[in-house]
Amino acid sequence: MYHLVQDKPVVQKYGGTSVGSLERIQNVARRVAEQHKQGLKKVAIVVSAMSGETNRLVDLVSGINPHASLRNYDMAVSAGEQVAVALMAAALEKEGVASYGFLAYQLGIVTDSLHSKARIRDIDCTKLYKCWEEGIIPVVAGFQGVTEDMEITTLGRGGSDTSAVALAVALDAGFCEINTDVDGVYTADPRVVPQAKLVEEMDFEVALEMASLGSKVLHSRCVELGAKYQMPIIVRSTFQPNDHQRTRIMSFQAQRRLEAPVVSGVTLDRNVVRMSLTHLPSKPGLIATVFDKIAKSGVNVDIIVHNKHEESDSVRLGFTIGAADLVRTQDMLQRWCEELGPQVKCTAERGLAKVSVVGLGMQSHPGVASQVFTVLEKEGVAIHMISTSEIKISSVVAEADAEKASRALHAAFIEE
Ligand code: ADP
Ligand code: ASP
Ligand code: MG
Repeated sequence: MYHLVQDKPVVQKYGGTSVGSLERIQNVARRVAEQHKQGLKKVAIVVSAMSGETNRLVDLVSGINPHASLRNYDMAVSAGEQVAVALMAAALEKEGVASYGFLAYQLGIVTDSLHSKARIRDIDCTKLYKCWEEGIIPVVAGFQGVTEDMEITTLGRGGSDTSAVALAVALDAGFCEINTDVDGVYTADPRVVPQAKLVEEMDFEVALEMASLGSKVLHSRCVELGAKYQMPIIVRSTFQPNDHQRTRIMSFQAQRRLEAPVVSGVTLDRNVVRMSLTHLPSKPGLIATVFDKIAKSGVNVDIIVHNKHEESDSVRLGFTIGAADLVRTQDMLQRWCEELGPQVKCTAERGLAKVSVVGLGMQSHPGVASQVFTVLEKEGVAIHMISTSEIKISSVVAEADAEKASRALHAAFIEE
């Protein structure tokens, strides 16, 4: 019997691999129909595009025009979810359950207009309640949104997790289930670090750091929303039975935090590009102008390094951005550098990755940073940039060294 939380609705999200073939879609539909027959009546299903489909659409857009407007990009890349929704609803019908598919505009998943990284503002659940009254299972497209002007938006790569948690919040669900191709959240990507262990219970804070530092299993904004609205997130495998191990992400008691491990996870983000601006005139306000321009183009900047060259009275600025923002950032900065003068240069460096250790226990354990650097040095891994906070230490390294660095850090901090 499926365990319901005070008869509250449940949102189940199925990711790309989980719906990657007709057979897999039918398997998911079988599981959902079975639970529906056992009493899970108020369930909403969120699906991603079939695996590989969104990448294919991204390649089509950049193949036709790498400088395409983000409005056109969103219109193209959101299309994969439409097919997946319709196939899932049809598969449920085949299992003998009525089902309706909804795209973002049909339901009213309203976002701001920041194309390719839009944020959800509101979700109208009226049609979902109506479905439940009539015994229909609604299937909702993840990743997509619509602006108040009916423009199609997307939430950023991996954004279906965020669609699901936002929907769970809007429905006041008991929890949001993220069904994926691993058993839950591990201490590191199990595909990179074979010794990684499943974490059965995880605090929102650690999950958020891990997600925002590149652990692909959860979109970081879905964890942000979960934490803000105290919506428990269950991460489990689509391919395992209901009683199999899984991860529960929620707020645990302060008491447990005191005993939190120093390092609870190692993350690897391959999606790192370092931009450098050299020979910038050392003028007040110039640095603010650079980051203002970048922010206005909707690009998130991560690690920043600023050096002043006293002799030439010039400034060198280095910062990292996500690879998907490279073309836009470069176009914009190159134009601006030309305006500043021929000596100002803008360069981009690929082939980098960010490896981080994350843990609430770091707050009360000094010396973690020096240990990280010692481990990396022993492995012969050169560090290009460093960034720290109370609960994480990130190092930008050559992408070729990143997996080795992850395994060494995991061995030193988690397997010790
Ligand atoms: P989905 O298509 O279901 O959204 P994703 O590919 O986006 O799935 O995310 C699942 C993948 O995340 C796993 O296959 C795994 O390789 C990767 N991953 C990265 N870090 C972790 C981690 N700490 N724990 C579990 N999986 C991780
Ligand atoms: N299909 C989208 C992507 O590949 C959204 C998702 O998978 O969550 O990024
Ligand atoms: Mg995903």
